[in-house]
Amino acid sequence: MSLPDAVDVVVVGAGLAGLRAARTVARAGRSVAVCEAGDGVGGRVRTDVVDGFLVDRGFQILNTSYPALKATIDLDALDLRPFVPGAAVRDPDGRLHRLADPRRVPSWAPRTALDPLLGPVAKARIAGLALRSLLVPPSRQARAPERSTADELARWGLAGVPTEAFLRPFLNGVLGDRDLETSSRVFSLFWRSFVLGDLTLPSRGIGALPTQLAARLPAGTVHLETPVHRVAPGVVETARGPVRAGAVILATEGTAAAELLDGRVPAPRTFALTTHYHVVEDPPTRQALLHLDGAGGPIVNSLVLTNAAPSYSPDHRHLVQSTVLGTEPLGDRDLRRELARLYGAPVGAWEELATVRVPRALPAAVPPTPAGLQHPVDLGDGLFVAGDHRDTPSVQGALVSGRRTAQAALAALSRG
Ligand SMILES: Cc1cc2nc3c(=O)[nH]c(=O)nc-3n(C[C@H](O)[C@H](O)[C@H](O)COP(=O)(O)OP(=O)(O)OC[C@H]3O[C@@H](n4cnc5c(N)ncnc54)[C@H](O)[C@@H]3O)c2cc1C
Repeated sequence: MSLPDAVDVVVVGAGLAGLRAARTVARAGRSVAVCEAGDGVGGRVRTDVVDGFLVDRGFQILNTSYPALKATIDLDALDLRPFVPGAAVRDPDGRLHRLADPRRVPSWAPRTALDPLLGPVAKARIAGLALRSLLVPPSRQARAPERSTADELARWGLAGVPTEAFLRPFLNGVLGDRDLETSSRVFSLFWRSFVLGDLTLPSRGIGALPTQLAARLPAGTVHLETPVHRVAPGVVETARGPVRAGAVILATEGTAAAELLDGRVPAPRTFALTTHYHVVEDPPTRQALLHLDGAGGPIVNSLVLTNAAPSYSPDHRHLVQSTVLGTEPLGDRDLRRELARLYGAPVGAWEELATVRVPRALPAAVPPTPAGLQHPVDLGDGLFVAGDHRDTPSVQGALVSGRRTAQAALAALSRG
């Protein structure tokens, strides 16, 4: 597909933010080209096929409550496979506690109520957090006085066991943030999404999400393997030649944006995640339940993916993901020891399939964040910047950012 010489808007990057931006521009009747360095769309949301198994580029959850997702994506077409809305927590004494949201899994309510891990006061406080996240409108949560998530949990009287055994490993995996430095504004919105949404996987892998978005663009909009080397007002220089444009939207991950824009936006601090994938004949559990290490071990969460989405496997075998913080994979011996402890089952026969490291998995949304959690996107001179680093570190944040940046670019174009 040849690259156009000139368009109304050129978008750099075909991640969720870039694809959403391009769709907004195309729907407004303006011409748009997306230049993507990689060989496929999706950016951080991609799925590879390894020996017939669907291997997401890092374990990701699709939360059905994200408003931007509902507005943009035909969720039915993704054939979403839910997990149990809860977790199995291995405590420091080696006991396994299975907890679930009693509203959504009523059959587990007695067990969850009686489980000793958290105690009645902590459970009531966690329910209080959930209630607050439902009662306070999201726009107010995004502007509330902020502190770190760790301080917010302490303020709710949840320091100690509730945080260390349950909330920390859960949030470590969601935010990539070891010390829970993330803004309480972001935590509050995430908590709301967990209270309202189902945690799911698309049956064809997480990459089905950007694939669907891209399929809705006019044919020939996305140009793969077209890295952009330089961005200037009115033009981008790509490996395949220049493209002139009335507006340029830079929708790369934050560090790449800072580099291409010569520091006109600061490079965000980022958190890293590494996911280990194993193929297993006999799964350690038949439940699609996130396993959390409440003993502070290096694996923050693990899940038998095929218990939720059997289509992740080409045959009867199971696929297990296990996530650690940072970019350093666990050595095989340590990994098997930790997995055996987490599941309370032998793992000697598990076959290693793949290890996915994502050094810049998530931008760190730590205080101080802008009120409303929206960083500026219009840099002037027809240059715009989009991506999760401009909003919240999530699928929701990337989609919102793509749309609002495209709207800013469209407004600038119509002002001339
Ligand atoms: C392991 C992992 C787990 C996650 N878990 C969750 C989760 O459970 N729930 C959730 O909501 N979010 C999760 N996220 C976050 C979510 O995936 C991201 O917030 C979102 O995908 C970011 O999208 P983006 O479009 O802003 O950026 P990206 O996806 O990074 O897209 C940027 C694109 O720009 C391209 N690009 C870069 N430089 C150039 C260049 N010079 N020229 C052309 N193209 C370029 C890149 O190739 C890429 O395609 C997770 C992320 C990771 C990595």
